Order: sequence, then structure tokens, then C-alpha cells
Amino acid sequence: MEATIEQKEIVEPYSTITNELQATLVDYKKAFDTNLFEEQSELILTKIENYLKDSKNTVKGVDVQNPHDLMKEVLSIMNSSKDASLNEKLSTIVDLYLKTGVQANSPGYMGRQFSSVFPIAGVFDFISSMLSQPSSFYEAAQLPSVVRVFMAKELNKFIKYPEDEFDMVTTSGGSLANLTALLSARNYYFPEFWKKGILSVKQGEVPAIAVSEEAHYSIIRTVEMLGLSRHNIIKLPTNYKKQVDISQVETTLSEAKENGFKVFCIVANAATTAVGAFDPIDKLAEIAEEQDCWLHVDGAHGASFLLSEKQREKLKGIHKADSITWDAHKMMFIPGTCSMLFYKEKHKSKLAFRQKASYVFEAEEDEYTKYDGAKKNIECTKRPMIMNLWGVWTFHGASVFEEKIDYLCDLTQRAYQELKKEEDFEVLHHPEANMLCFRYKPLQEDHTRIADFQLKIRNQLKANGNFFISKVSLDGEIALRVVFMNHNTQLNHFKTLLEEIKVTGKTILQTSLKSAMTL
Ligand SMILES: *Cc1c(COP(=O)(O)O)cnc(C)c1O
Repeated sequence: MEATIEQKEIVEPYSTITNELQATLVDYKKAFDTNLFEEQSELILTKIENYLKDSKNTVKGVDVQNPHDLMKEVLSIMNSSKDASLNEKLSTIVDLYLKTGVQANSPGYMGRQFSSVFPIAGVFDFISSMLSQPSSFYEAAQLPSVVRVFMAKELNKFIKYPEDEFDMVTTSGGSLANLTALLSARNYYFPEFWKKGILSVKQGEVPAIAVSEEAHYSIIRTVEMLGLSRHNIIKLPTNYKKQVDISQVETTLSEAKENGFKVFCIVANAATTAVGAFDPIDKLAEIAEEQDCWLHVDGAHGASFLLSEKQREKLKGIHKADSITWDAHKMMFIPGTCSMLFYKEKHKSKLAFRQKASYVFEAEEDEYTKYDGAKKNIECTKRPMIMNLWGVWTFHGASVFEEKIDYLCDLTQRAYQELKKEEDFEVLHHPEANMLCFRYKPLQEDHTRIADFQLKIRNQLKANGNFFISKVSLDGEIALRVVFMNHNTQLNHFKTLLEEIKVTGKTILQTSLKSAMTL
């Protein structure tokens, strides 16, 4: 009792002041009104539910609006009458957001490596947004920190690193995971580089990495960010499948050595972004060991294939890699971003960064701070992205990923067979993953004359709005690229796409013929 009285005496004058201050927070309190929160969340939920139902049955690509027109719509929302209810505004905004996006849930979406997401993952993302628990430090995000360790162990059952030795950090995207891995590799082989930069490099031992031409651009960017340049990239030749040609690796590496380079890291693509080719990880691991260099697997897209019994073989030897990039927002269908960087050996995960910061880091690790990720990755504030993945894992298990990955790969094989039957189409590779690249060539003569024909087709398809596909440059010439990411897409949709390509292509040819004749 006494304590309560004492407390009252202290608190009273203070609370009078705060009450006065609080009285100024009129708009702020309105913004935090929990009834409003409920109303708005319900409105959004209903809209998204309807959107999910509708879009899976509507073949649609993307409705590309002119940005100036879209800006006008934004301004009109901002200027809408003060009387418009908050919900009317919200409704307009959500409709506009849905309408102007790539329709990732529609069977017409075959464009890129992002996808529609597991609904439960979206729900977890919503919780994370509301709770605000940035996940770089255990004390701020206790559950996400423990879940990260749990999910690392679950996924490692597929990688098969020695259980007590490996580590995993989450990063905001695969590009950042690649950067972190290569930084660790450089610091491992060039420990002085951190302090002295390029001056620490001895003659005849210039740092370089080896990777095929098909590497994702984030690898090239990373090398430049490491204080090196494009000259420090040793290009590994590829075979007709766009995989590293293993028979040429050793010669290429010894030439690099003769030219004064110390290749500290080989990067294996699993799979390549353009065509989805898997480099021979197992054999590259052997070579990396012989040469005493790091092997990094860029599995942003294809590490998820480990979850499928049918596909797993493509990643044979992955447990020998020093590090692996694995994006869950690609073939695990989690909201972007959710990336993981695995290290075979725990201690190597601490090599990337060395800064001290007394306001967050503890000098001595204890049983709590050993769950901190911050010392091992570039972000300070970071989303607890692993929760979204854990959500799906908890409610649907690993098999849901396997089912979808197998479906998409089978669909790609069937589409490939379909395409081979077509006379006017040229298939550019035998697909290993869920990408398929091809060209439409209805004329016999050389097509370099209308070099941008494929590009024109792609742009016209986008404008038609039924299908969303991408393009890629292969062997110096543009090709059409389909990435099957959506379980709502069926073979018939692909056949309809081919029909639309034919019609669109012929129209483009006729138009260019006419304009050539009038010249
Ligand atoms: C997508 C991709 C990346 C980049 O990952 P982000 O998560 O988009 O940053 C890197 N490498 C490969 C092979 C990819 O497919």
C-alpha cells in the first residue's frame, strides 16, 4: 500500500505535464485509432481475397500506364475532397495498386523470377510490419532470431553441411548475400586487404574471382565494390548448355595464375538467370579444393531445387561449397525479400565485417548475443523476413514447395516439347529449370536484318496486356524468355501465348515491309 502512495506522489505532477503534451496529439491519436485499424484491415482483406479469386482465372499480363497519367491519379487522390471518407480513399488506392501491378497470380504471368506468394507468408509479413521487430539483434527480435536458427537447421537437412559447423544469415536480397559471401572470401584469402586495400596485394597475387559469363550481374557489381575491377574477373568458358565447361576450367585457372592472378573464389551458378543452367558444382568443388580457393554457389534461384527429390541431383556436391546464396522469394514463393546466406563453417561468417559499434555490439558474446546477426551482415535494421518462410513451413511443410517446383519444371519440359514441334520457333536450349528461351523466326532469310524483331514482339505483347514475358540477350542476340513461376499457368496458356506471338510477329513484319516499300 505504502509503495502505491509514494508512487502516486511522484507520478502526479509529471503526468499533468504529459497530459498537457498529449492533448496536442490530436491527429496522431486519430491515426492510431484501433477501430479504424480494424475497419481498414478488413477492407483490404476483402479486396485481396477477391483479387486472388479473380486473378487466377483471368489471363492477364500487366496494364502498363503512362507514368504521367498515373501521377495525375496520385495527385487526384491527394486532392480528393476532405469529405471523402478515409475508406473511400483507401479503396481507391488499393484498386489502383492492384490494377497497375504485374498480375503475378494470373496464368498470363510468365515473366520473371518473382512470383505470387503463399497467402500465409503474406499474413506473417503483415504481422511483422505491425510488430516492428528488426531482426539483426536478439533483444529486438527474439522469436525471429531463434526461428532463423531453426530454419537454418531445417534447410540444412537438404544441403547436408556438418550440423554443428555451419551458419546462416538472412540478407535483404540475393545480391547482398553474394556481396557478403565474396567479401568473406576475399578477407579469408587477403586478410590485410581490409585495412590496407589494394596496397596489401603482392605482385603475382592479384585477387580475382572465376565465374562464367552467365553470372548474375550482382556478382560483377560485387567484384567492383570489393575494390577490384572487371579485369579481376576470370571468365570460365561455357558449353552449349550454358554451364561452365568443366574441361576448360583448369587451363583457364592456370593461365590466370601465369598472368599474376590469385583466384580466391570460384562462383558456381545454380542456376543461371537467363536460361536456368546449373554449373557442375561437384566438380568445381574438387577444383576449388585443389587450387585452395573458396567455392561460392549462387543459388538465388535454384538452391530451392534441393527441396525436390526429382531436381536435387542438379545441385550435387553443394555441401562442399564454402557458401551458398538461397533466395526464398524466388522458388519458395515468399514475399520479397527473403534471402539466406549459408556458410559451411561458422567462423567464416564473421569474416565479412569488422566494425565495432558500442551502441549495439557487445564485446563478449553470450548465450543471447550469439543469436545476433548484425555483425555478419551489412544491414543494421532488417526485416524479420525468416518469419514468412517459417509460416509456410509450419502450416504446409516442405512438400508444398516440392510439389510446386516439380509442377513448374514439368510444365517447362512440356512447353519445350511443344515449342520443338513448331516450325517457326527456334528453341535456344534444353531447359534444366523453369526458364525457356526462344525466338520466333517465321521467315527463312537471315534475321539479323531485323535484329530487334524479338524485342518488338515482346513489347507488343506487353502492350496487348494478356501475357507478361521477358527478353534476354543470348549470344549477342535478343530472345524471348518465359519463366514459369505460377501454378495457375497451364500448357494451354503457353499454347495461346505462342499463337499470340505468331499473330503479333506477322503484323510487325507486314508493317515493316510496308514501310520499306514506301521508302
Ligand atoms: C535473382 C538472382 C540474383 C539476385 O538476387 P536478388 O534477390 O534479386 O537480389 C542473384 N543471382 C542469381 C543467379 C539470381 O537468379
